[in-house]
Amino acid sequence: MASPRDHAPVAELVEQLLSTDGPLPIVAAGDPVLRGGTERFDGQLGPALLSRFVEALRVTMRAAPGVGLAAPQVGVPLRIAVIEDPAPVPEEVRLARGRIPQPFRVLVNPSYEPVGPARAAFFEGCLSVPGWQAVVARHAAVRLTGEDERGRALDEQFTGWPARIVQHETDHLDGTLYLDRAELRSLSSNEAMAQRWTQPTPQEAARELGFRLPG
Ligand code: ZN
Repeated sequence: MASPRDHAPVAELVEQLLSTDGPLPIVAAGDPVLRGGTERFDGQLGPALLSRFVEALRVTMRAAPGVGLAAPQVGVPLRIAVIEDPAPVPEEVRLARGRIPQPFRVLVNPSYEPVGPARAAFFEGCLSVPGWQAVVARHAAVRLTGEDERGRALDEQFTGWPARIVQHETDHLDGTLYLDRAELRSLSSNEAMAQRWTQPTPQEAARELGFRLPG
């Protein structure tokens, strides 16, 4: 059944969300807004409202904390996401996962395609699926196209952990959650992750939990 909110223009919805200060509430799995896909951004928010919305996404991502956040995760069905990863990890983890620092970026109307056949499998989590992580085999390198928040064209290759982040966030904009692509036998609580699966790669987890890694 439709609710009145379904018919409210998206700008009104965003104005409403921004009427209180601080981090926005994050929508959890089970809410249809995470599954319905998004509208391409085409000026539905004016420049001032867009910039306030982007700032709210940044504040919410940092407070969580997370390395990316897509508009549907705050209930807004627009094709916009933010990413940022200071990558505070030990050297061996950085090397194994390619987890290099990623400065704050706004992705508007992003889409990606694989660059080469290589896949990389690591544990990842999602702010909309709190408390859990699972291994996802993703393209090791992708070409991301789209725009930035000022409408300037974006066409860039991402590798390592940033490639994982942009795939995860762009998937959100298509109504896909990382669990749709995960090795479900790898599903681990945050407690299990902290106790058992802190190794730089998921090889031991694959052996012990009984799932396959690519390659
Ligand atoms: Zn997510």
